[in-house]
Amino acid sequence: MLARVLALDVSLPARQADPAALLECRRNRLSSLVPPMTVRTRFAPSPTGFLHVGGARTALFSYLFARRHGGELILRIEDTDLERSTAESVNAILEGMSWLGLDYDEGPFYQTDRFERYNAVIDQLLEKQLAYRCDCPKERLERIRDMQMAAKLKPRYDGHCRARHVKPDQPHVVRFRNPVEGAVVVDDMIRGRIPFANDELDDLILRRSDGSPTYNLTVVVDDADMDITHVIRGDDHVNNTPRQLNILAAMGKEPPRYAHVPMILGADGARLSKRHGALSVVAYRDQGYLPEALINYLVRLGWSHGDQEVFSLDELIELFDITAVNRAASTFNTTKLDWLNQHYIQHGDPKRIARLLSPHLGHIGIDPATGPDPVTVVEAQAARAKTLVELAATSAFCYVDFDDYDPVAAKKHLRSVAREPLERLRAELDMLALDDWHDEELHRVVERVAEELALTMGKVAQPLRVAVVGRAASPGIDVTLRLVGKEATLRRIDRALAYIAEREAAA
Ligand code: GLU
Ligand code: ZN
Repeated sequence: MLARVLALDVSLPARQADPAALLECRRNRLSSLVPPMTVRTRFAPSPTGFLHVGGARTALFSYLFARRHGGELILRIEDTDLERSTAESVNAILEGMSWLGLDYDEGPFYQTDRFERYNAVIDQLLEKQLAYRCDCPKERLERIRDMQMAAKLKPRYDGHCRARHVKPDQPHVVRFRNPVEGAVVVDDMIRGRIPFANDELDDLILRRSDGSPTYNLTVVVDDADMDITHVIRGDDHVNNTPRQLNILAAMGKEPPRYAHVPMILGADGARLSKRHGALSVVAYRDQGYLPEALINYLVRLGWSHGDQEVFSLDELIELFDITAVNRAASTFNTTKLDWLNQHYIQHGDPKRIARLLSPHLGHIGIDPATGPDPVTVVEAQAARAKTLVELAATSAFCYVDFDDYDPVAAKKHLRSVAREPLERLRAELDMLALDDWHDEELHRVVERVAEELALTMGKVAQPLRVAVVGRAASPGIDVTLRLVGKEATLRRIDRALAYIAEREAAA
């Protein structure tokens, strides 16, 4: 088999087209000999763990590429590793994709449903002598391996069984008869042309002795059967690609285009893992991240558009260009994710943010029905929270009395000098009708008390804030009082006055 070289563009390979017509079409874009093919990408996770940041980015790139080109995304679950694949992992992948809004057009297809098909392809390859049976005992393979290692050669199968006729009824594996000459070129949409000499490639095993097909075979059969035009995957697969190209060629199939996405590193330069604080996708949801923030963050891991940082999904679909993805690895950075999340919390539709906030209030034991409409809470607080979890925590004061004062704030603001302003405020606020419990009137009350006592606004508002919120930071005092409501405000002022009295008594 000769090297398969495709033009370096992201144009579509024509499927099932006659090669001459195909070539003609490539030369002349206006030619209508071959109808334009639909872009079909796939995301093909192995369900051996959660959907993590790296996998989610691969899924996102595949999704954006498909949408950008009016194509389709197929979800394929590569569950052939029966020992390590779990149903929980499949669920976590589906849940993660659905939370991120990465909707797919077909699937999920499960490889374990397709063993018959894989074996049929292997049998065809055997029939055409493009594959062969090998019954080399383990000891022999180990011996060759040791000799090759000693001679500083790359360990590989020596082709011993290529010309032998191993009978099907004895224990054996099936190996691919890899071409021995020439080269195979991976024409990568991100990395450009990567040639591999065929004599560097092993006669890899297609079917194990237990009858199960191997990864490279199943991927190739699926990519061909599912009419995949573009494969976007992690660059840990780049060495598999020349093998897959050779198998595709042996099957007489036109290969898809490939894009190998560089890996994601932690801040220390090592491959990203849990210990860098990288979480599964649904764990980000549980920690109060918005899907749009994670999407925006993930896309910027390796792709950029000028110096733009914030992208809506629609913008991404319009702008995303797989060929512009960095060749170099990118570094995971939680600070930037937090920044984006803050941005989306602050600028998102408050109704939507409130809807997403409610379960987080629930997690800390707050029933949003017992206090202000969460939409008003979001409007008041959104500028100050990095995550919904934080937003829920800092908004608890609107619904329930806090446990303890922040010690620094209490020490500074709940002192004897605060007694008179708090007493005055209590009296004035008590007189306010519920209809007057709105920002302007509340502001006027605080202002009037400050004026009457010849104090600055701060000297009055800060003790009041600590009294009703428990700490020195909250939205404007009028907004804060409105959210807390009359009853709780008065109750909490009484509590602060009692606290001051206790402090005085103890002094
Ligand atoms: N199942 C492989 C993985 O999760 C991906 C294979 C592919 O995309 O070709 O690493
Ligand atoms: Zn052998």
